[in-house]
Amino acid sequence: MIFADSSPDYKSSKYVIVGVLFDATSSFRSGSRWAPDAMRRASYNFETYDYEYDIDITEQQFHDAGNIEFGNLCDMISEVEVVISSTFDDGKIPLTLGGEHTITFPCVKALSKSADIGVVILDAHLDFRNEYLGNKYSHAGVAKHISDLGVPLVQIGTRSGTKEEYRLAAERSIIYATDEIRKRGIVQVLNEIEGFLDVDSIYLSIDMDAIDPAFAPGVGNPEPYGLTPLEVRTALRKLSPVTSGFDIVEITPDYDMGMSALLGAKLLRDFIFASSQKKGV
Ligand code: MN
Ligand code: MN
Repeated sequence: MIFADSSPDYKSSKYVIVGVLFDATSSFRSGSRWAPDAMRRASYNFETYDYEYDIDITEQQFHDAGNIEFGNLCDMISEVEVVISSTFDDGKIPLTLGGEHTITFPCVKALSKSADIGVVILDAHLDFRNEYLGNKYSHAGVAKHISDLGVPLVQIGTRSGTKEEYRLAAERSIIYATDEIRKRGIVQVLNEIEGFLDVDSIYLSIDMDAIDPAFAPGVGNPEPYGLTPLEVRTALRKLSPVTSGFDIVEITPDYDMGMSALLGAKLLRDFIFASSQKKGV
């Protein structure tokens, strides 16, 4: 199964989709390893043409490189870094489909070696635990590990974390809680981010639980009072033209009737459409 309308030709493609089937540290609901194929299946629902952008997605060449599967955390961390590094060094924008959020760490590590990047994470959770359930690297600590790399970090949609996580995250990153976005509006927040992040490009990570469980119930750790899909689309439109790496993580297709994977597939398409625009909308 490949993502709808993707190109068989790696060489001429600007974007490369990689599915990372890994959910070994998931704590509440596992099964995000099934998400890449669930998003691929859902992708056949959509027209190739998008009226808003007036572009046919087939004009934006993107290649689906299939899945890589891991049972072991250390193997995943080292292998994903190698795969994403080679994709990025080939001049492509890697589009990584998780899998649990832990997979974002090697992706960011890969890009940060050869580019001046900042990281924007949409997530209900701070993910600032140093260690979780005995694992140094886990979905619950991915933002902390990214900040350990020394890259600037902005978190959007936050509404859950321990007191210690909030303390450390406030020191190390810029946090926009969902309530703040409700009050000030996503556009104003996004405009502010540009000022903070004095970098060449952005790595954008979407933990699907940033979105309210009413819209995306099939996620590893659902958290009420979330963002709307349209707010996330606005963020994509604004940030994707300056984004050099992107992922969607934490969808657990077994826990809903397909709507979270459908939304994930739509967001991925929107990223490709919006990324082709010269300026953010
Ligand atoms: Mn997360
Ligand atoms: Mn989360």
